Amino acid sequence: MHAVAAGAAFARFAALHAAAPRYDLIIKDGRVIDPSLRIDAIRDVAMTGGRIAAVGTRLTADAAEIVDARGKIVVAGLLDIHSHFGRSTDGPAICLADGATGFIDAGSQGADHIDEVVAIARAARQTCRVLINIGRAGVLPEGDTMDLARADVDAARNAIAKHRDVIAGVKARLSREVAGDHDAEVLRRAQQVATSFNLPVMIHMGQTVSALPTLLDLLKPGDVVTHMFAPPPNGIIDDDGRILPEVLAARRRGIWFDVGNGRTRHMRWDIVERVMNAGFWPDTFSTDWTPEGRTEQVFDFPNVMSKFLGFGMTLNDVIARATINPSRVFDAFRDRGTLNVGAPADVAVLELRRGSFEFVDNYGNTRTGREKLFPSLTILGGRRIPRS
Ligand SMILES: [Zn+2]
Repeated sequence: MHAVAAGAAFARFAALHAAAPRYDLIIKDGRVIDPSLRIDAIRDVAMTGGRIAAVGTRLTADAAEIVDARGKIVVAGLLDIHSHFGRSTDGPAICLADGATGFIDAGSQGADHIDEVVAIARAARQTCRVLINIGRAGVLPEGDTMDLARADVDAARNAIAKHRDVIAGVKARLSREVAGDHDAEVLRRAQQVATSFNLPVMIHMGQTVSALPTLLDLLKPGDVVTHMFAPPPNGIIDDDGRILPEVLAARRRGIWFDVGNGRTRHMRWDIVERVMNAGFWPDTFSTDWTPEGRTEQVFDFPNVMSKFLGFGMTLNDVIARATINPSRVFDAFRDRGTLNVGAPADVAVLELRRGSFEFVDNYGNTRTGREKLFPSLTILGGRRIPRS
């Protein structure tokens, strides 16, 4: 080829490249906290093609869009493993704006109405999965499985087979007012359903008829215990504030312990304090969000996370329990909860404000905190989500 022609071809190539910016978006100068990468420093996060492209200092400003994150906290998109965002059609958009780029609807519906929550999960923009309630009618005021016939193994199996891509596990709510005195049998049935699809079970503990060790005996590695701060009867500590040995053993064999904030009988400050002082920290935080929780106690995921700033947890410890830790609990989140290069470009930009903030437990008791996280901006698959 003539040198002149080659030169012209190169000029055309260079012009094309100059027109296309190197990155789709850069979040500049935020305090990037990523426990999975052991980063806590002022950094830029660049993304391209819906994936994280680089995390570094003074990344080139050659980007289609730049977000100034000075004074903000930049973390991987939050993952909420116990919520009820599938109860309302606007649930997914609400939690996305709060920074949750992935969530699990934990048992809002059973086999009878599973199509409703599955449809909401499918329509959502972020990663959503559903736990099927072993009670075929879902959450009931009179108790999901108070009538044991509602814990219908075949019905649940058929529902999962129909929606295998969205249903990520089985939920068993075991409190006295939900399952009566057959909590263990309900859990056995939930486990029969789950194991036939190699899925985890999440149990709702606290105020059960059976002793907690009896129920923990029925769990397998990878299962989740939610409402870990539930007051007695049958909490995770004894009367002297010691963690039950069976609880310690359950964690050692790979069972996860989750917060599940919620609004009724799941969390009381004196229990939280004793469990945290005993050194038994949650593996994961979660909201147990419902539309009613939007205006009291729960509010949003960053508010739930803020409750644990204190009790000896650093900001890094708190971020881990809303990002990398939950990514290990459900397969759908496996590549998330991290800003690792190549991971999906899901990012939550948060604001850490200092002042005096009141946090309320499920019994009307308050605690004052000096710091609180607020949602500021969500990026999903490399695109900013406008706050409505
Ligand atoms: Zn719940």
